[in-house]
Amino acid sequence: MEALPQPSTSSDAVLQILLFVDKRPNSSEKIRKIRNYLKELSSDYPFDLQVIDVGEQPHLAEHFKLVATPTLVKIYPEPRQVLAGSNLVAQLETWWMRWQQSVTEERLEPQADSSSPIETGNDSSIHSVVHSAELIRLSDEIFRLKQEKSELQDQLRFKDRLISMLAHDLRNPLTAASIALETIELAAESKEDGRESRLTPALMSQLLKHARTQTKAIDRMITDLLQAARGSGVELQIQPQKLDLQDLCFSVLNRLRGQFQAKSQQLKTDIPNDLPTVYADSERVQQVLINLLDNAIKYTPEGGIIQLSALHRTSQKVQISVCDDGPGIPEENRERIFEDRYRLQRDEGKDGYGIGLSLCKRVIRAHYGQIWVDSVPHRGSCFNFTLPVYRA
Ligand code: ADP
Repeated sequence: MEALPQPSTSSDAVLQILLFVDKRPNSSEKIRKIRNYLKELSSDYPFDLQVIDVGEQPHLAEHFKLVATPTLVKIYPEPRQVLAGSNLVAQLETWWMRWQQSVTEERLEPQADSSSPIETGNDSSIHSVVHSAELIRLSDEIFRLKQEKSELQDQLRFKDRLISMLAHDLRNPLTAASIALETIELAAESKEDGRESRLTPALMSQLLKHARTQTKAIDRMITDLLQAARGSGVELQIQPQKLDLQDLCFSVLNRLRGQFQAKSQQLKTDIPNDLPTVYADSERVQQVLINLLDNAIKYTPEGGIIQLSALHRTSQKVQISVCDDGPGIPEENRERIFEDRYRLQRDEGKDGYGIGLSLCKRVIRAHYGQIWVDSVPHRGSCFNFTLPVYRA
């Protein structure tokens, strides 16, 4: 805020005016004219004036509900009066005498409840108005900063957790890939030494394929985690092609066989042979299936039943369902579990970070499909998603 040259600050100067200005180039001429006019006036009538840049004091502009600049606001004597528009100097000329008159009247017959605003700190004095608007601004700022701080802390905590999860989850495919590579290396060494290798060409190519699959899995995990760390707003890129879902389902189930066995869970499938091909990104859909089956295994107790089924629902859509007879999802949480980092309180003791389902949702949305859960609490959940049928 800037004061005009030599404004009166004497106790007689009770007429109090704020001049709101902005820094736009086409405003400067208008402002100059008003300032000159006020400067001339100040030699005859002392008054108190403050020039306020709305860019620096937006709260004050809001306080007076200003819609344009420059604007003059007479704040004392009351009533408050706002002059705005292109002909401010002309308006000032009209009002100035009346304003002075009201000052004289005020001095002669002070209102019972309003003596000099400067001396008493009356609410309408320039200083108290400016002060309270500044207080509002500062408390808004403090509130905003507190919110920002807690969001940043949240993000930092999430990133810490992601890093530890990454380290933990990468270990499996990394170990599998390095075992495959070491085996191939040993075979090559024994060949160099003239010893006979026990690795047949078929076994060798199987090991290479295994190592490649594992490195792809590592790559996928890193990409997903980076995407999750960046937030859910990031659009997911997919490369859809003609895809045989039946093959994909069985290959995923094969991969997870060990996990089902470890919890003695029974696996059922209902995947019709005549299921039409879909138009989808194989890697991404595989990832959705793995996430849903992983969850089913994780949240269903030992000995439970898990079923993977597919259904040609309409001429345009295929529906895949992963059902279990685990604890189910309470109705009020059925939407929220698809949000980023949302976990049921009940499951906080289990491994996980609440990003699997939100990732599934983003993948399915990117395919213009739907994903949802049907559930009967304590009797199980069915996670369903749809994919578009491939059209030649
Ligand atoms: P995470 O499993 O890492 O917590 P998800 O996003 O995959 O994250 O799942 C979010 C939450 O939904 C889980 O924390 C769990 O509370 C609930 N949930 C997911 N799948 C199942 C399921 N099959 N049965 C019961 N609850 C589930």
